[in-house]
Amino acid sequence: MNINQKKRKSVSGSIYLFDTYERKERLFVPLKPGRVKMYTCGPTVYDYPHIGNLRAYIVADVLRNTLEFNGYKVKQVINITDVGHLTSDADSGEDKMELSARKQKRSAFEIAELYTGIFKQNLLALNIKPPSVWSKATDHISEQITLIQRLEKAGYTYLTSDGVYFDTSRLSNYGHLARLGVAGIKPGARVDIGEKNKITDFALWKFSPKDRKRQMEWQSPWGIGFPGWHIECSAMAMKYLGETIDIHTGGIDHIPVHHTNEIAQSEAATGKQFVRYWMHVAFLTVNGKKMAKSEHNFVTLQDIVDRGYDPLAFRYLVLTSHYRAGLNFTWPSLRGAQKALLSLREKVSILGNKKVSPDKQELQEFKRCINNDFNTPQAIALLWKIADSPLTPQKKAAILEFDKVLRLNLGYLLSEKIPEEIRVLVQKREDLREDNKWEESDRVRQEIIKKGYEVRDTSAGPKVIRRGL
Ligand code: AMP
Ligand code: ZN
Repeated sequence: MNINQKKRKSVSGSIYLFDTYERKERLFVPLKPGRVKMYTCGPTVYDYPHIGNLRAYIVADVLRNTLEFNGYKVKQVINITDVGHLTSDADSGEDKMELSARKQKRSAFEIAELYTGIFKQNLLALNIKPPSVWSKATDHISEQITLIQRLEKAGYTYLTSDGVYFDTSRLSNYGHLARLGVAGIKPGARVDIGEKNKITDFALWKFSPKDRKRQMEWQSPWGIGFPGWHIECSAMAMKYLGETIDIHTGGIDHIPVHHTNEIAQSEAATGKQFVRYWMHVAFLTVNGKKMAKSEHNFVTLQDIVDRGYDPLAFRYLVLTSHYRAGLNFTWPSLRGAQKALLSLREKVSILGNKKVSPDKQELQEFKRCINNDFNTPQAIALLWKIADSPLTPQKKAAILEFDKVLRLNLGYLLSEKIPEEIRVLVQKREDLREDNKWEESDRVRQEIIKKGYEVRDTSAGPKVIRRGL
């Protein structure tokens, strides 16, 4: 996969993105001019999100901000998977929610509420804009049942003793997204398919076990049970965004099963194309291995904060790599990201808060980077190039415009309130310096440092910042 795209002479406003379905970069053209309908697969809320998961949402946020930067009005849905995701991504194993509830001795609904709250707090800390709609799978059981009934009527389903299944043999192009091929599975793989007709068939509705009562279960035309994992995304995407949506995002692990099945069931039900552009984020890894709960190699955002890092240092780190390339997480790389981010903020704060219009040429250059399949590493390089050159107020204003997409709080130091007591000391020091009372002025400087602030003398006058920033 070539992600070091050549610099395109793109017309300002035209966005190229890599569509996983076509396996190539395509010019983005939404279904309705000026409007974008976007669906982002949300987390399964049985445990803390890890920073690998969070990478996927930072990328989706940059995508959304880029579209808005180009003048599009974006409607974004993020779902909350609070039922039906089994410990395998396919149809075997236990429901992750019920398993976690049992382990933590709480109800599955309490578990869902707890981790949904933490997930939303994590997004806030990472400066990720909330979506237009949050949609919870358990709030949309009837929509899922209706969609399964539609599939049943059209002859795409069959019953087994443990549920209602989708018959993938009815579709000639099943698995195209993942390039699964006719057999649907790599030769040599031995998998127990139970009562399924075909390995690729998947559950739309599963019955509750006969010997045990589930916490989350609902009546349905087929019997008491719960929806399969994939059907929730099709049902909720269609409810809020319509039968054809513009962009669907998720991590690359969703290509072979979850998204493949979303396409199959949605297109079988409607006869229409479900998604016009598929976007997938590569993995955050640790020592080259995917960060995952099951690998016990995960780091949470709280771990990052506990070690004294700004969550936005992690956002910066994510932006330094292209979303289609793997990103290997290390603590030293996070340290480097924090240093770089703080230094950028300082550079931006030098010229104070005067309002001027942003440098047009730099804005164009920035658009050229991000409209080229969201090339954030190029955008960050541009940011540094500008910050390291003599910074005019117009160039600084351009950087603050870039921040509408990057959302790194680059203007943070500009908006920080310096306490009155510190301002008085800074002025006192200035007066002493004017009178050439260097020793006394230095004593005042030390006093300012003791109170947690620092004065830097710049050509534009003294600059005060909080120490450690
Ligand atoms: P889940 O909660 O497992 O449904 O995952 C939520 C989102 O995180 C999905 O879009 C996954 O594809 C994505 N994801 C999971 N692990 C990683 C990882 N290590 N790096 C990047 N994205 C990931
Ligand atoms: Zn999904």
